[in-house]
Amino acid sequence: MSNIQQCKNCNKHFSWKKVYLSFWGWGYKSIICEKCGTEHRITFSGRLIATFLIVLPMSLFMNFLTPFENFFTTIFNGILLAFFGSILTPFLVRFKSN
Ligand SMILES: [Zn+2]
Repeated sequence: MSNIQQCKNCNKHFSWKKVYLSFWGWGYKSIICEKCGTEHRITFSGRLIATFLIVLPMSLFMNFLTPFENFFTTIFNGILLAFFGSILTPFLVRFKSN
């Protein structure tokens, strides 16, 4: 769990949950350090990584692989895949402070 973003100002480790939840909501919310209050915004490359990890596996799966006859089974597995991809994002995505 040591690879998750730290505060640029005081080096406090952000929790997985805090980083994870910052992805959900329009336009990616910034992370506020609970210790020193420094605001962190997702970097452009971080945003790309998050998009690739969540959207790419899901769309590839749904558009090209579709191993299931049933449409809803395919959708369900696509969402599941996106969920597992999103679990990894807090370890890979980087933030910058203003
Ligand atoms: Zn801090």
